[in-house]
Amino acid sequence: MKRILSALFAVLLVMSLASCGEDKPPVSDADEFKIATSFYPVYVATLNVVDGAEGVTLLNLTDPDVGCLHDYILTPDDIKKLSGTDLFIASGMNMESFVGKSSLGIPRLEVLECGEDIKNVIGDEGEENPHYWMSIENAIMQCDKIKRTLCRLDPENAGIYEANAAGYKEKLSKLLEEARVRMSKLPDREMIVYHDSFDYFAEEFDIDTEHILSDSEGRLPNQKDVAEAIREIRGENASCIFTQKSFADVEALRSVVKQTGCSIVLLDTLTSGAEDGNDKDAYINAVRRNMDIIEQNIR
Ligand SMILES: [Zn+2]
Repeated sequence: MKRILSALFAVLLVMSLASCGEDKPPVSDADEFKIATSFYPVYVATLNVVDGAEGVTLLNLTDPDVGCLHDYILTPDDIKKLSGTDLFIASGMNMESFVGKSSLGIPRLEVLECGEDIKNVIGDEGEENPHYWMSIENAIMQCDKIKRTLCRLDPENAGIYEANAAGYKEKLSKLLEEARVRMSKLPDREMIVYHDSFDYFAEEFDIDTEHILSDSEGRLPNQKDVAEAIREIRGENASCIFTQKSFADVEALRSVVKQTGCSIVLLDTLTSGAEDGNDKDAYINAVRRNMDIIEQNIR
């Protein structure tokens, strides 16, 4: 599948290049450094590092409402946007199935996959879990990786990248300290969850996640899964199921809620927010909101 998407990308790219004129491939202005990010978590981290850097433009390729990019396929419009870019920053860990090891078929485009070398929290079924940014420590590592790449590709702005990254990392470290204190005080260390996006956060603070209606086999939950989930919830005497907005209306989940009297509690996967350049604390604020919600619901 990955290979097909990469091939498709290459074809679309050639088409878009061809339509832009024969001799002149679209290159960015020599004094302009153009960065594109794949989706919101990477965008916010990059926004913090490039803040105030001269001659730098930052574009987030996908709409924040897209959420995760698990099944995202690049559109011809995306490719048009990318064709003038110097650096593409992706989340990696197979979050963007359209990103291969090569530079997306664009010879001079650098691709940074932030998730590379970050420890993968393996799910119950042995599947990989790409939601690494949900761990604050990983967000700090991500910031460092972005900074190092930017300093190498745009050394003129290295001073500002270093200073910005140091400032953002300090904020994230404070958040981590706050989270350690707050999460250590939870009276119960178990969360019933639907979906694996909270595993990194939970592991960071020694909270166990009990997955229900696991869809890891790529199929929708069936009646047997619903019955098993109900048994599990009753066994744990749980009062709520944590999930994210995009799953709130899953029929099987609704059915479990109806039969157990549990409530659905929505947490933020930190994949959406404003893109006006002023929302540099979007990640930090969303982690705090998640902690408020966890504290209110784990009692
Ligand atoms: Zn996801």
